[in-house]
Amino acid sequence: MTDVFKGSFTQQEPIPEAGIDAAVEVMRHGRLHRYNTVPGELSQTALLEQEFAALVGARYCVAVASGGYAMATALRAAGVVPGDRVLSNAFTLAPVPGAIAAVGAVPVFVGVTEDLTIDLDDLLEKSGQASYLLLSHMRGHICDMDRLMQICDAAGISVIEDCAHTMGAAWKDVPSGRVGAAGCYSCQTYKHINSGEGGFLVTDDAELAARAVIMSGSYMLYERHLAAPPKEAFENIRYETPNISGRMDNLRAAILRPQLADLPTQCRRWNERYYRLETGLRGTPGLTVIERPADETIVGSSIQFLLLDWSGEAVKEVIARCAARGVELKWFGAPEPQAFTSRYDSWRYAPSQPMPASDRVLAGVVDMRVPLTFSLEDCDLIARIIRSEVGAVWQDAA
Ligand SMILES: *Cc1c(COP(=O)(O)O)cnc(C)c1O
Repeated sequence: MTDVFKGSFTQQEPIPEAGIDAAVEVMRHGRLHRYNTVPGELSQTALLEQEFAALVGARYCVAVASGGYAMATALRAAGVVPGDRVLSNAFTLAPVPGAIAAVGAVPVFVGVTEDLTIDLDDLLEKSGQASYLLLSHMRGHICDMDRLMQICDAAGISVIEDCAHTMGAAWKDVPSGRVGAAGCYSCQTYKHINSGEGGFLVTDDAELAARAVIMSGSYMLYERHLAAPPKEAFENIRYETPNISGRMDNLRAAILRPQLADLPTQCRRWNERYYRLETGLRGTPGLTVIERPADETIVGSSIQFLLLDWSGEAVKEVIARCAARGVELKWFGAPEPQAFTSRYDSWRYAPSQPMPASDRVLAGVVDMRVPLTFSLEDCDLIARIIRSEVGAVWQDAA
């Protein structure tokens, strides 16, 4: 049992040829700025917004420079002002509390359950402390959205969804990002469509959308959008809203449009790989598979499992042994932030209280990327490697 996996955990697929051709065309004519159009021309960015809005069934969509920018803009456009408190997940990535800090607000962290979703009991308890929730569907895990909205509606909390890991996913067939006041997505290389950097904000709220369009840097050119509210919605907003440039450009939009068309296929391919891994891991002594609710339509672009109540040393041993066999796992229990992974208590600009139940979960969360460059056989091999190394450490510990 000394199989070694030789593939890369960070290698994405190439950009589709249609995207490369469209990007070359944009470079040849040179009109990269989204508002730089010739008479009668619709920009790649405006078309992309229209197509994304249609994909998720949103009235309005603004394409922007990053997922983090989309979140900060959504918060600002929804009315968050400096000093406000904003509820958010303790289990998430750094750009989420970062977006809250970017608008001068203060994150209030809500715990995580063993299902890796936001702890709704903790949310209920803290619901009196803020008027906004930046809800992160971290690593694609969607909580019970009905109960979440019940809690938030009752407390007058406006919900902004971070869908960086749920583009293409759904809860009870409602696309992720379409339950709250606004949904935010990322087109960064490690997410579900890849333009290096980029993001979307979607909403049905004309005022929120109009503010977001002006904030993104539309100047008075908002009528060149195809998925923005009618110009009446801008009447006062155009004077009152700061321009905080963060536009998408036509080169990125050209690369993204064919990927958007492929998204349903890609999601299916991710899920084939995810379930192959899950099947391979299921039944490993000491390892807890995360059961996905029937109401959730997943996009398995990463997979997590729990080594619940293991010592930190034993988890580190598993990660080191898997790494020696080519399998890159990330641990959310590490006391120091590493690479992309950090914990709520390492974001020291944001005050936090200890959360023992969440700490127990985080101490056991092991995370793995599932790039589409993996074959199904790769997934079988990776699962075998994890299974045998978890088994070996588990036996030593017993
Ligand atoms: C990547 C990511 C973001 C932000 O996306 P960027 O486009 O990199 O700014 C937000 N939330 C989560 C959970 C992410 O993983």
